[in-house]
Amino acid sequence: MSTHHTACILCSRNCGLLVEVENEQFKKIKGDDDCPSSKGYICQKAARLTHYQSHSDRLTHPLKRTSDGSFVSISWDQALDEIAAKLKSIKSQYGGKAFAFYGGGGQGNHLGGAYNQQLLRVMGSRYRYNSLAQEKTGDFWVNGRMFGSQKCHTTEDVEHADYLLVIGANPYQSHGIPSARDTLKHFKNDPAKTLVVVDPRKTETAKMADIHLQLKPGTDAYLMSAMLSIIVREGLHDEDFLRTRCQGFDAVKAELLKVPVEQYVQMADVPIEAVYQVARGYAKAQRGCLRIDLGIQQSLNSTLNSYLEKLLFLVTGNFGIHGGNNLHVGLMPVITDSDERKPSTVRTVRHGMFPISALYPPNLLADEINHDHPDRIRALFVDSGNPASTIADTGKLEEAFKKLELMVVVDVAMTETARHAHYVLPAASQFEKTEATGFNLEFPENYFHLRHPIFEPTGDALPEAEIYTRLLEKMGAVPKRYPVLSFIAKHEPKATGHALFMGALALKFLKQSRLKQAPSSVLYRTLGQAMGPLGSAAFLLPLSIVFAKAHPAAVRRAGVQAPSWKLGYELFQRILNSPQGAVVSRHEMDDTWSLIAHADKKIQLADPELIQLLVQLPQQHIDQTCDRFPLVLMAGERRSYNAQQIYRNPAWRKQDPHGALRIHPDDAQKYGLQNGGRAMCESEAGRIEVHVEVDEQTRPGFVTLPHGYGMRFQDSAPIGPQINRLTPNTRRDPLTHTPYHKYVPVNLLPIAA
Ligand code: SF4
Repeated sequence: MSTHHTACILCSRNCGLLVEVENEQFKKIKGDDDCPSSKGYICQKAARLTHYQSHSDRLTHPLKRTSDGSFVSISWDQALDEIAAKLKSIKSQYGGKAFAFYGGGGQGNHLGGAYNQQLLRVMGSRYRYNSLAQEKTGDFWVNGRMFGSQKCHTTEDVEHADYLLVIGANPYQSHGIPSARDTLKHFKNDPAKTLVVVDPRKTETAKMADIHLQLKPGTDAYLMSAMLSIIVREGLHDEDFLRTRCQGFDAVKAELLKVPVEQYVQMADVPIEAVYQVARGYAKAQRGCLRIDLGIQQSLNSTLNSYLEKLLFLVTGNFGIHGGNNLHVGLMPVITDSDERKPSTVRTVRHGMFPISALYPPNLLADEINHDHPDRIRALFVDSGNPASTIADTGKLEEAFKKLELMVVVDVAMTETARHAHYVLPAASQFEKTEATGFNLEFPENYFHLRHPIFEPTGDALPEAEIYTRLLEKMGAVPKRYPVLSFIAKHEPKATGHALFMGALALKFLKQSRLKQAPSSVLYRTLGQAMGPLGSAAFLLPLSIVFAKAHPAAVRRAGVQAPSWKLGYELFQRILNSPQGAVVSRHEMDDTWSLIAHADKKIQLADPELIQLLVQLPQQHIDQTCDRFPLVLMAGERRSYNAQQIYRNPAWRKQDPHGALRIHPDDAQKYGLQNGGRAMCESEAGRIEVHVEVDEQTRPGFVTLPHGYGMRFQDSAPIGPQINRLTPNTRRDPLTHTPYHKYVPVNLLPIAA
């Protein structure tokens, strides 16, 4: 029996865990009191991680698909030799544009991203598709305009707020905020705190709220506009903040004053007195905080919604304060900047779509593969993702896969996507290798948790660092050996803080500039070899140096003490030596302003394209249902027992085995449905059979299905709803192409018992 620090990998919180292990199995899993971010908190999902680590669908050997569609085991050498040859041939025949990459990390596995992104560079492609572009790119794009860079991501200090406004989120189930359930309980039990929830369903979070606005689905933009209008009409905006920290308030105010408040509130179908109460309460709060999530980011007007939620906390001055919304820093940032107005922007061939935060929207992937232009996508690498199950319009994507000349999947299990691949490569699980998350979104204190391996890899599985480095070596993109660098890495005295190694590395890159395409692999094969089991984290050394240079005072406040030239190295050592997670920076609130990327360090409220979205709102259709599809489906509800696609064995669930469709009793009666019965749910994209749960908490006209179901296990039929057979990829935000998963018009037909 041994005890290890690690973390839960099921949601973006990545709570610290203390686990007991025996015979290569989890024996006991509990919250880690020593973890500086979660401090011992966990929810019920973490205790069931054995269902991820040990199950019968784990991949153990590289597989190659044969002409009859079955798979045969092959060696790593054969798999990587054949894949390397095919990639080189595609690149020389069609150029880099023929290659796309999907995925690159889920909730807790971002370390591999440093390796797999090298393949894109070596192939000369920019086409990185990723699930963040199913959800968050509207937010990133708005951040770019308002704060000057898409890297300027906002976070929320929920724990210290006295007024919490939650729109389109159910943190009780989805978490996403520190110690979610404990934090919500504090709001419920403390009369000095107010919790407001805006959601079409009376969710678990809404049940704890002081006020619940059960709005009509898809009307969030109208409700937020009305609230903003009330705030400026009543002079509740923060004049001081707007004058000193922002530009363009007058233009925004002029538009907000035009908003027909009563009409918009009627469209949202919520009581007008309650809307006034919330607008005033939030604006007057000492520490008002706004938490939003996919409920508004995957619904009608999603990019405008991202603008309006930011206006709410900016116009009221609830920004850059304890208990408000803030910008944050990150050691291993998962969000980067791409401004589509630059001439160097690479657009997709069929849709002419630009990247946001260097990501292309998965919603368009099927179309970009399945067309006849010579520059179409012909080769696809999928890593840590299951697009056949998670992208809108599964049927369209399955058709597109057939057109690929090469499809490779890297994963821990035989997923729905892997079944379509030419090659399937087994990755070590998140507990079998060194891992980390880039979802360190806290401010003013931030953390980094480098998780050490706990188990030996299953079968022949390898960590991504090894898979991609070997592949690049076979493609001739990087050498196999670096005698000088390896010697220095091994023998350099600690006192020099790797200064000699970094100098020699810089010289190497100067002499062989093509190696800059694959810096993580170079570090892995050199410094990494001297680091033992943590070798794949070698690339964190330069990141730590850059981070310490950018935020020296905050790093020192976090307790890392060293002269400037050595501060990054000491930070790196702290990360390596803190298996429970480490505090990497401790900022002061005033540092917020230095994180704004505009040259004047002010927030731009009135970017013309953003204002235009607001101006166009009255012309939008608020009801997209029709006689054929009269109900609105929320495709992807968060519940107690869904966890992305990570848990494939259905035995992990203690309840809701079928992922039932929730429907209001009046609608159930209207459509002839009974609790526990079955129905056919159909949309313009397809139809699936669902189990019915009659649910008083759901708004009439609105039905919900959970995400995280529909996977096969041990060659079974799909278990639970495959929701993306219902979601058309054409229903999407016109600017960012994020899907309207939370607003899918559907119909229901009873199925006889
Ligand atoms: S699912 Fe999220 S909140 Fe729950 S233990 Fe895991 S990381 Fe923490």
